[in-house]
Amino acid sequence: MALRILVAELKQETATFNPALTLYSDFRIYRDAEVMTAYRGTKTELSGAFDIIDQDGRLEIVPTMAADAVSGGPIATRDLDRLLSEIEDSVCNNSNVDAAYICLHGAMAGQDEGDPEGRLLTNLRSILGDIPLVASLDLHCVLTDRMVKAADILVAYHTYPHTDHYETGQRAARNLIALLDGTVKPTVARVELPMLVRGDELLTATGRFGQAIGLCQEVEASETGLAAGVIIGNAFTDVPALQSNVLITTNNDAETAQRAAEKIATFMWNNRDLFQATLTPLEEAISQARDADGLVVFSDAADATASGAAGDSNAILKGLLADDFPRRTLIPIVDAPAVAAAFDAGVSSEVAIDLGGTRDFTRFSPVSVTARVRSLHDGEFSYENGTVGQGGRTAVLISGSIVLLVTERPVYVVGRRVFQAFGLDPQDFDLVVVKSPNGFRTWYESIASLIIAVDVPGSTSANLKSLPFKNCVRPIFPLDEDVQLPD
Ligand SMILES: [Zn+2]
Repeated sequence: MALRILVAELKQETATFNPALTLYSDFRIYRDAEVMTAYRGTKTELSGAFDIIDQDGRLEIVPTMAADAVSGGPIATRDLDRLLSEIEDSVCNNSNVDAAYICLHGAMAGQDEGDPEGRLLTNLRSILGDIPLVASLDLHCVLTDRMVKAADILVAYHTYPHTDHYETGQRAARNLIALLDGTVKPTVARVELPMLVRGDELLTATGRFGQAIGLCQEVEASETGLAAGVIIGNAFTDVPALQSNVLITTNNDAETAQRAAEKIATFMWNNRDLFQATLTPLEEAISQARDADGLVVFSDAADATASGAAGDSNAILKGLLADDFPRRTLIPIVDAPAVAAAFDAGVSSEVAIDLGGTRDFTRFSPVSVTARVRSLHDGEFSYENGTVGQGGRTAVLISGSIVLLVTERPVYVVGRRVFQAFGLDPQDFDLVVVKSPNGFRTWYESIASLIIAVDVPGSTSANLKSLPFKNCVRPIFPLDEDVQLPD
């Protein structure tokens, strides 16, 4: 009889500084067999795990529930409770299994719950009992004691921008199978680092962080290595466990795990001054964009929907309007009332609308714009990784040299598909604004002549000292002076 592997997913990255709550209805939910249909053949962790499990030949996948939402504000308490209990019920109904793979992001936060994933893993462990349980994590996970305790092995991404979702699922599934076969006994070492990191040195292909990940990969490739990662937290998930961690799991080899964890932690700590962002003031960025040849990309990391911001910042738009910026510009913005006005007016009509500040209204105030409605859409499209984006009703508006992609709901503005799906090719523009701190580089580095990380306000600003931290580990670098490593 085939061994049965339970699979579940819960993914959302929370920016607690974003006041727009994330609701149950913001989650894309697949149940039972739908999970397989939705994720097979995609470039996701689930797909990577499915392929390894299938290849084994002895195993049967038992899909339960997969829920994910675009990064955003904290999850409303009732909605989080409903989500967690639905996953737990679904696992309860399928608890006759031999092992479990849980795919998580790891940096979720509820209005009142600072560690939803730790709560979920703890509850799943008590439902499933003492069977092999492996979870995968984004390296932006806020690692907690509950997560470490509940799972046998935690496997984190090794790339930033993240390009190894599929491979992470494969690594998780291989570990799960080794546990199921009884050939490994996990020994875990964890070193906590009171630091929050940003900036270009985090790019694993070129930056110092890549060297730390290289050390993790050496551990995984070694005789007793099972999983190794540097889990840096999402700097905008201000919960009590927020800091960085090195987490190493070996096979019955506590000494190697501890030695490696300390070595990698020391490397990260010694390089902490490099792990900070360099940002360009908006006026200077606009002046550089005026003079540049070829495509210029502004990274609005402060309003990065990819990091959990509200996506309704008009800070760059205001700057360009004030400057009377003459070049062809493409700007995405979340603004449900503006979309409604565009739909009421219809294609080719002219509308006078207020744009911005409909969600993060303490940070942004609306700006009045007159625009022509170029096209209207239902907002559904496919991201580069094969998953579905849902922007709600979507309007393309033209105001002078500026083209606006206005969505009712936040979407990831990391790749190019989010524009192309609505008839907008970034390569037809002189300036494109993306809502992503670094992930966009995968799709834009090859076509941009100049990339500028712009310093504007926002709930996910890389200028960490501009944010109202209240809960994270303290003291912590770079928020506090003279931070020491704990003993
Ligand atoms: Zn991430």
